Amino acid sequence: MHLLSKSTYIKGLQCEKALYMTKKHPYLRDRLSIEQRAKFQRGSDVGVLAHQCFPGGIDMSPSHPSQFPKKVKETMENLGNPDVNVMYEAVFQYNDTLIMVDLMVRAGQQWKAIEVKSSLRLSPTFYNDAALQYYVLKGCQVPLADFMLMHLNPDYVRQGDIDVDKLFVCVSVLDFAEARQEWVAQNVERLKQVVALPHAPLVRIGTHCHDPYTCDFIGHCWKNIPSNSYLYTTAQPDDQLFEHYFGGAGTNAEFLKKLPPDCEEARQVEALETHSYYIDYKTLYTFTPHPKPKKVAYLNILLDRPAVPELDGTRPYQEMMLAFALTGPLEPGGHYVWDCFDDHSRWQEGLGLLAEKLTHYELTVSFSPMNTGYKTLNLYEVLGQAAFYHPGIKTGFSLQHVAEAVFPNFKLFEHSRIVVEALSNELTSYEQARNDLLIENEAIEKLYQHFFK
Ligand code: SF4
Repeated sequence: MHLLSKSTYIKGLQCEKALYMTKKHPYLRDRLSIEQRAKFQRGSDVGVLAHQCFPGGIDMSPSHPSQFPKKVKETMENLGNPDVNVMYEAVFQYNDTLIMVDLMVRAGQQWKAIEVKSSLRLSPTFYNDAALQYYVLKGCQVPLADFMLMHLNPDYVRQGDIDVDKLFVCVSVLDFAEARQEWVAQNVERLKQVVALPHAPLVRIGTHCHDPYTCDFIGHCWKNIPSNSYLYTTAQPDDQLFEHYFGGAGTNAEFLKKLPPDCEEARQVEALETHSYYIDYKTLYTFTPHPKPKKVAYLNILLDRPAVPELDGTRPYQEMMLAFALTGPLEPGGHYVWDCFDDHSRWQEGLGLLAEKLTHYELTVSFSPMNTGYKTLNLYEVLGQAAFYHPGIKTGFSLQHVAEAVFPNFKLFEHSRIVVEALSNELTSYEQARNDLLIENEAIEKLYQHFFK
């Protein structure tokens, strides 16, 4: 049995308690959001695609964790077998640490280890992850010619079938990994001791709860923090908020004493105390449309950003419009929904149709992180500029959080749910996605009416 893996090691670097809880109390984890689940799925889909760069390999992934010892043995045997040139998910174990390497590729008498990432760039965490894998491979005495990280090429433009050799870029991290070995060895020993503790280590909440990743145990560790604590404000950086908190300002009243009157932080705390939201109405009203428009359309656009480009002429993670929902007096029945769920190649047709429809309206109201153009009142930008605040937005300024803050009885769903429905290949899910787009439109309309009428 192993004590550490790649993911638990990375978790332990972020927080020792998170590592301990993952190993000993995984049932206390928070539920994954739809967006997080989609991210994991994307990572594994890209990993499988990367196998095509080195075809004909042996898949070493175990069907059950109980098979790990067997797979470790087989992996080591394959290293010495001249008939084996490529292994996928090869399993190695050293010093109670188990890793699965995405790609092992023979290079003469040696091997190249390649770790695949579904991102466009490499983050410091990926380098730490590579350094751990290198530590295990070295410990297993694997003759290594190189250790590489392979990620999606932001400049790749699809033309015809996917050219996997151009879709991915490889970067050698051998020198970095070699230079980090002492540091990795110290961390492995430290984290093994954490796993062996009889109880969870005492770790205070802090900025590490969201950095570099949002921890799975927020619900557990933050349960004693009142939902209207100033720790959920956004006007000050988190490290300053925690400094106040651990410096003796445990309550909102104590925090307020440290602030000048009428500053943004104080206004946010006031909103928390009254279980409401804050908005700077003076700024907000500068966006009031003049003259008052009679023909207003409410627009909701559904975008997808496929990691692997689906269509000719597109790049990895390039946005494409899967659907739009338009609610307005000029639409028969009051609304119109266009989509290309069953054939994404039609996505640009939708752009032309949308542009044409919008010319008949005096104002288009939307809520979108992207600018939707001329004669548009984008509530995402407008409310952001008017310093809209509610504790819900601490984790993201989304339509769901804003609408639920303003209308406490109005329950929305994660926007990502619609993307999942639209990509499901099922007619019933397509129908659900269209309905969900219109429900979001209802929220956009309610927000506009609330703030501007
Ligand atoms: S919520 Fe924070 S303190 Fe708790 S385990 Fe996660 S990172 Fe550590």
